[in-house]
Amino acid sequence: MKKYPNISFNEENINTNAESLIKSCCKYGVIPVAVTKLICSEPKIVEGLVKSGISVVADSRINNLKKISHIPVSKMLLRLPSLSEIDDVIEYSDISLNSELDILLALSKSAVEKTKRHQVIIMHDLGDLREGSINIEMTRELAAACIHLPNIDLIGIGSNLACYGGVEPSKENQSELVSIARDVERSYGIDLQVISGASSAGLPLMLTGEMPQEINQLRLGASILMGIGLNDEPIPGTTQDTFTLSVEIIEVKVKPSVPKNSSALDAFGNVPVFIDRGERKRAICAIGKQDVNFDEILPKDENIILIGGSSDHLILDVDDCKSNYQTGDVVEFTLSYSGVLQCMTSEFIHKEFN
Ligand SMILES: *Cc1c(COP(=O)(O)O)cnc(C)c1O
Repeated sequence: MKKYPNISFNEENINTNAESLIKSCCKYGVIPVAVTKLICSEPKIVEGLVKSGISVVADSRINNLKKISHIPVSKMLLRLPSLSEIDDVIEYSDISLNSELDILLALSKSAVEKTKRHQVIIMHDLGDLREGSINIEMTRELAAACIHLPNIDLIGIGSNLACYGGVEPSKENQSELVSIARDVERSYGIDLQVISGASSAGLPLMLTGEMPQEINQLRLGASILMGIGLNDEPIPGTTQDTFTLSVEIIEVKVKPSVPKNSSALDAFGNVPVFIDRGERKRAICAIGKQDVNFDEILPKDENIILIGGSSDHLILDVDDCKSNYQTGDVVEFTLSYSGVLQCMTSEFIHKEFN
């Protein structure tokens, strides 16, 4: 018997997205890295992506990369390594993004101890104000450190945009990254394999042919897994139908839409607000705010009104629905990026493949 609540992945659609994006990237000389943090690097999905032609898989958490250590694919750690996890970074990732000298020193020391080599991409901040140095001298210095540190291979320069500060990847900022990479190459007489421009947010620029041709890597998460990019807009050639949340109804009753003597705060300390629609048929589902923020899910049945809930209960108004919902029935929802992320992280939500 199927278990609920569950989040199901449409593996075929995810793989089709990956294949389509690999093809479009190829036209522009870009090799995509598949970012799998949204699905906590679920091994079954990662295996499918590798079969689709993905050569590098990236996650922000080393614990997720640990889960796919048996899969023969190059692994990239996206979040800057923490000092407390350096040995695991060397053990479970081949490439990491870096912006701090102390971390590079620790990576080198651990790599020497483990007789492994570790590849590094130095992050430069083009204005989004998350990771990376904002001045070229410092980026140059970090690159120099990598060149001299034992068992560390400097493979490229990268940047992250449209994550914290909402700065869009543009022709200008991507060209700036290229000139920084060229500056580093000239300063030290080296060749960099990788200029890692942006995330899925960089796809619109690439697809309109405006991405500088020297940008040869994009790190793609949302676009492969959900068919979306900059501002969550759909990416041409991909499908958005990749995840579904299914929850089970545990009570159906006709009740008034406004409580009789509402004076207390709700379970989350907020003043509850009600719209009086009269007596309505309501369904309670076995999922709650502990699992997912209700703003991040949308019933597939357009006649359902999501009216609220608490930590463990979701209350739906099903009075306008054509189907006669009963206890034990299953209701399906589409999810936003952060809705998927929360469901994937909740141990109470079963993961289903189909
Ligand atoms: C999450 C992340 C990405 C992928 O972003 P998407 O919008 O999912 O494509 C790329 N690079 C870094 C550094 C990230 O943290």
